[in-house]
Amino acid sequence: PEDQFVPDPNKKTLVILGTGWGSVALLKKLDTENYNVVVISPRNYFLFTPLLPSCTTGQIEHRSIMEPVRQILRHKKAAVKYYEAEATQIDHARKVIKITDNSEIKGTITENEVPYDMLVIGVGAENATFGIPGVRDHSCFLKEIRDAQAIRTKIMDCVETAAFKDQATEEIDRLLHMVVVGGGPTGVEFAGELRDFFDDDIKKLIPDIADRFKVTLIEALPNVLPMFSKQLIDYTESTFKEEHIEIKTKTMVKKVTDKSVEAVITHPDGSKETVTIPYGLLVWATGNALRPIVKDLMSQIPAQKDSRRGLAVNEYMVVQGTRDIWAVGDCAVAGYAPTAQVASQEGAFLAGLFNNMAKTEALENKIRELSSNLNLKPGNTAEITQEIETVEKRLRRTRDVKPFHYSHQGSLAYIGSEKAVADVAWLNGNVASGGKLTYFFWRSAYLSMCFSTRNRVLVSLDWIKAKIYGRDVSRE
Ligand code: FAD
Ligand code: NAD
Repeated sequence: PEDQFVPDPNKKTLVILGTGWGSVALLKKLDTENYNVVVISPRNYFLFTPLLPSCTTGQIEHRSIMEPVRQILRHKKAAVKYYEAEATQIDHARKVIKITDNSEIKGTITENEVPYDMLVIGVGAENATFGIPGVRDHSCFLKEIRDAQAIRTKIMDCVETAAFKDQATEEIDRLLHMVVVGGGPTGVEFAGELRDFFDDDIKKLIPDIADRFKVTLIEALPNVLPMFSKQLIDYTESTFKEEHIEIKTKTMVKKVTDKSVEAVITHPDGSKETVTIPYGLLVWATGNALRPIVKDLMSQIPAQKDSRRGLAVNEYMVVQGTRDIWAVGDCAVAGYAPTAQVASQEGAFLAGLFNNMAKTEALENKIRELSSNLNLKPGNTAEITQEIETVEKRLRRTRDVKPFHYSHQGSLAYIGSEKAVADVAWLNGNVASGGKLTYFFWRSAYLSMCFSTRNRVLVSLDWIKAKIYGRDVSRE
């Protein structure tokens, strides 16, 4: 491989924004010899999000699910340029991207522009707060590594403060009340991990406060995990009951303060009640919102006027109303749920598309070259014509690119006490299962999906370590 990135003026510059599921799946399969590839992301690693809830309790150490982007790029055929920066604006008329170094250490230059011929946007999404007062100031999110680290520290801070000498009973109850808002898979998995942590470790280490620990999951809709089948929703709800995780459905949080949440409960008879729920730790997991760069681009393009949830793309992932811009993952609206599974399939599709486009161009050049040979070498006409025909045939095959088709492998979620739920596609049908066996399936499926062997080894060792020695409860 070429170690140095030297842009080739004969190749197009392909800029990829983000190092998440969509962008990394694209990079994995892309033949980087065909383009001058530039990657821009404020995060210099790929994060395996499915195991992020386990990092909040120390069941898994955070570095086990991170893969440095430099390591990923090292194995590419041709060198790829990486800038650790945030793309702040896409000027699609001038075909340039404005980038800013927002990290702690700054050089003399912190802002710049990167030109592109082709652009892929894979910047993911932000946490939705719906403008509810107090959410940003007082709650933890669960999207990035630093979120999981902050939660891990806060859990132990709440526990140690609750165990403080002569702490008032009411205050102990507040501090040990962990409230999770949002009954999607993020909220459910986190609540399960939290309960495990208490039952497996805290109870043993600090028995005097253990029976006051409480987890409440608040969901605005009538049930949790809306993407799972009814049977698995019921299974999750009954498992949570056994685990003493209280689920408050039809309950909408309206306001958050530093020590309590205010929520409106809709009762079965339709009447509404406003309640105040004191908490020690609040985790906010109510889904996705648009990133500013995506919002800004949408405002520049008339064809995106009616799109609300992200960049509307066509079946080839081209951003509607633009040329040479593609979008993948949570920032793109292609008619699928914002999941890692969708993002990685979209990224892999684009890699195939771009590899194909390069092949097409090469074949077209070959035909042009052969055609000019026809005039230069009249003696070889028959031979050259036959060669042109062969190349044209290959060109037709290469050009025939099928649109993106998502293949759903199923939904999986961990629900605590070594139980998981799975809706999995199986022999043209669907299999719904929940319980311990599903938990082993969940573990092996996620282990096999980890980015690298190094990640797989680290995650396995973390599981073994936690089983033998318990989770590390030191507060960093
Ligand atoms: P991301 O993976 O979020 O990556 C976005 C990238 O863009 C990041 O590298 C980010 O740093 C970068 N970026 C952000 N802003 C900019 C900018 N301005 N300029 C340049 N780069 C930028 N899905 C599943 O299918 N199965 C699961 O089990 C699962 N579990 C999950 C658990 C948790 C806790 C969470 C939060 C999500 C989970 N998901 C799961 C959803 C899944 O993680 C997302 O759908 C997926 O990450 C989307 O991929 P993406 O590439 O669009 O975005
Ligand atoms: P989500 O959008 O799936 O769920 C958020 C929930 O919060 C919704 O059910 C919503 O009704 C509720 N909510 C919103 N506002 C509320 C309020 N004010 N008060 C109470 N409840 C409120 O979000 P998520 O769980 O973060 O998941 C995001 C995406 O990532 C989804 O596509 C999900 O499938 C995917 N994901 C998948 C897995 C998995 O497969 N195991 C795990 C995590 C995330």
